[in-house]
Amino acid sequence: MIFLDLVKQYTLLQREIDAAIKKVCLNGQFIMGEEVSSLEAELARYHDAKYAIGLGSGTDALHLALRALDIGPGDEVITTPFTMIATAEVITRVGAKPVFADIDPRTFNLDPDKVIKKLTKRTKAIIPVHLFGHSADMDALQLLAKKYKLKIIEDVCQSTGALWRGKKLGGIGDVGCLSFFPSKNLGGFGDGGMIVTNNKRIAERISLLRAHGARKKYHHEVLGVNSRLDSIQAAILRVKLNYLDSWNSLRRKKAQAYDKAFANIEGITVPYVDERAYHTYHQYTVRVTKQKTFRAFLAEKGIATMHYYPVPLHVQKAFAFLKYKSGDLPIAEQACKEVVSLKIDPHMPDSEQQHIIRTVKEFYATQ
Ligand SMILES: *Cc1c(COP(=O)(O)O)cnc(C)c1O
Repeated sequence: MIFLDLVKQYTLLQREIDAAIKKVCLNGQFIMGEEVSSLEAELARYHDAKYAIGLGSGTDALHLALRALDIGPGDEVITTPFTMIATAEVITRVGAKPVFADIDPRTFNLDPDKVIKKLTKRTKAIIPVHLFGHSADMDALQLLAKKYKLKIIEDVCQSTGALWRGKKLGGIGDVGCLSFFPSKNLGGFGDGGMIVTNNKRIAERISLLRAHGARKKYHHEVLGVNSRLDSIQAAILRVKLNYLDSWNSLRRKKAQAYDKAFANIEGITVPYVDERAYHTYHQYTVRVTKQKTFRAFLAEKGIATMHYYPVPLHVQKAFAFLKYKSGDLPIAEQACKEVVSLKIDPHMPDSEQQHIIRTVKEFYATQ
């Protein structure tokens, strides 16, 4: 059993996607161009933001957001240890220092009270990650940012379409970073990313940086990078954007079915949803008491599960130079030992989900 059926997603939209790809091929503009600027306009509107800029990946979006905010050597950026490495990797890439603050055990997202304890004179920004499709506590983080004059870079890579107090994530902080990696809720057929912002200066800086620092070809104002969105990706994403909200509601329906089925099972904790949040379930991640045996039991019955994430960032070998040790961020470390993501493919047949539910119940019946 595969965890997310990307071929199925394609076949559902095959006619539209094939036509969109063909259009680009016959037009001959493969980098940037009309498809990219149309997608930018559509995603800016979707996020109720003034600007959107297509980039090569979600990682690049985070990297260029930091550069646009002039964050560099001597600066500190606070983020979560319970995320994909890209979130923190980019901080070191601009020469700044990642500072990890522990998470809220319910949402798995950055805990604002823990962020306060990590503030120093060098803190310049916070990168909250809206993990698994659930918003970080943006009320508390925005208050903090205002009080201490910090920038907020939202990592929306796992939560495109999710809301906080009715507002799209990504359009709340100073800049929002999206990923179009194929498995994301809005996924392309390769790498891709985007930033959304209401800040003109940030938008201008990032559009300059993404194309070697040149507004006019061969006239370079600053040293930039090559991080552009391909026209073919943009064309495919424009088709898929029309389905994002309905596919997110399919994910929510599947999540509700799991929630209901697992409500009375001791030993399994279903995802918490803050009343201010609209969860889009990029992952349906539960906590279980016997993670290893639980996963092995399901695997034996042919059911794929995922473990996001086995090792928190502060104790990754690549970050050894930051000198954290095991025990420093106990809530994130505990989460790593307990989380399991169950299949939440929007197009999973009900019969398959029922099979997963039955098997989970069977596991707990034998414990
Ligand atoms: C996927 C992801 C990224 C990186 O996005 P890419 O497009 O793969 O570079 C960054 N942060 C989080 C939380 C992600 O899940």
